[in-house]
Amino acid sequence: MFFEKFRMDGQVAVVTGGGRGIGLACCEALAEAGAKIVIIDREDAIAEAGREALAKNGHDADAHVLDVTDSAAVGRIADAIVEAHGRVDTLVANAGIARTGFAAEDTPDEVWLSVNDVNYNGVFWCCRAFGRHMLRAGRGAIVNIGSMSGYIVNRPQMQSYYNASKAAVHHLTASLAAEWADRGVRVNAVAPTYIETEMTRTVVDKAMMDIWIRDTPMGRMGQPHEIASVVHFLASDASSLITGATVKADAGFTCW
Ligand code: NAD
Repeated sequence: MFFEKFRMDGQVAVVTGGGRGIGLACCEALAEAGAKIVIIDREDAIAEAGREALAKNGHDADAHVLDVTDSAAVGRIADAIVEAHGRVDTLVANAGIARTGFAAEDTPDEVWLSVNDVNYNGVFWCCRAFGRHMLRAGRGAIVNIGSMSGYIVNRPQMQSYYNASKAAVHHLTASLAAEWADRGVRVNAVAPTYIETEMTRTVVDKAMMDIWIRDTPMGRMGQPHEIASVVHFLASDASSLITGATVKADAGFTCW
């Protein structure tokens, strides 16, 4: 009976940034739980690669190209997905970008705006658009991908704009959860530690990674599937009493 709560058969799950990395791992986990997956990604090639990766494991997914910073387009795609599938049960608002290396006093407007536009505005546009359908249906679960950077200040890389965007995601999560709790829609977030994906591979050098690992109680980075299993829990009925939470999956990083 308890394991039944983890099943998501017949449900529809939308994952932004679902073409690779943490997003793709979330797609795989939710598909294995029985959900129909809809990938949203900014880049056609990445969205398609994600769809093909799922197909190889026997999961039939839809893939849509969409920039989550385009609020009108997010609204249209949410309507189109619900029209096509008749429902949306889960949103994983995962799409995000990192641009490290700018000291706060030297941060160009463009860096501040672009990071916050994807990581924060984009999460809200998606929560609002898919949340409306969930509220109408009286059920749904949203999982936003925040970061331990919403709690701590990373070192040695400077990235005030990224850290602030993730703290905002955590508080947005609690705010939406409180508004929607008595209408059947749960909103939670996951705050990962450093995870081995393109995001960390492109910004990191060996010396920086050594500092990260030294600062991590578990002494290692995480893998995308270690975030996906938390997302699956929060998306499924196994977490039916949890809303407004940001679950740290951070290898103990924030303990120190
Ligand atoms: P990634 O770069 O591998 O994947 C991000 C995906 O999002 C890509 O497929 C990209 O095309 C897509 N994307 C980016 N901007 C988009 C936009 N405007 N519209 C639609 N899609 C867009 O990164 P990842 O490591 O898998 O990161 C996923 C999420 O996890 C992000 O929100 C990131 O901030 C967060 N996170 C990552 C780490 C880490 O160490 N990798 C740690 C904490 C939090």
